[in-house]
Amino acid sequence: MKKIRTFAVTLSWVFLLLVFFLFLRQNKSAEVFHAVHVRTGQELPKVALTFDDGPSRQYTPKLLEGLRERGILATFFLTGKNIEGNEELVSMIQEEGHLIGNHTYSHVCLNQISQIRAKEEIEKASNKIYEITGEYPVFIRPPFGEWRQDLELSIDMLPVFWDIDTLDWKSKSVPDILKIVESQIHENAIILMHDGYETSVEAAFKIIDLLKENGYEFVTVDRLLIL
Ligand SMILES: [Zn+2]
Repeated sequence: MKKIRTFAVTLSWVFLLLVFFLFLRQNKSAEVFHAVHVRTGQELPKVALTFDDGPSRQYTPKLLEGLRERGILATFFLTGKNIEGNEELVSMIQEEGHLIGNHTYSHVCLNQISQIRAKEEIEKASNKIYEITGEYPVFIRPPFGEWRQDLELSIDMLPVFWDIDTLDWKSKSVPDILKIVESQIHENAIILMHDGYETSVEAAFKIIDLLKENGYEFVTVDRLLIL
């Protein structure tokens, strides 16, 4: 009889210890979940909007206004020849805190010209930007995404490509642009657009509103490329 009682007491203790252990385990996983939750709450997933071929006298001012209203910074890869006569737009882009990059002087395919001409195309655009902003651009987006490695020896710039090509210049359709972005969006995505079309500007605002709602933070490309 005594043996049975001792056994029952031992069993109760084992049961109590088990309950206590399970309680601790549950509490610990709650803590871990909380920590992860807090961290993601502080660091939103980032994306970068980039606009090529500008500035556009017709549409860049409207784009800048909408970005300002939404508190969004973007990256503008400017074509040197489009800067001429639009200098005040370049100043506005800089003053509003956006990042300015090089998109060559006359929108050439760098792979199809000599290395010397390619270098001239890039330097001419960089000089145009420097004359207005007082800063040489650090980033270059090669037109058509055609970069050449041999330029990296003589040009101290970082080529920037893209993750999502909205094909905005081709479709000129706000719903089509949105569909592409919605289906391909991911953290750290660089989105390619052009500020020379009304539909692109309108789509950009819709992209911003949609992605902000989904917890994305918009940054300039330097924040995604230089850690
Ligand atoms: Zn271009």
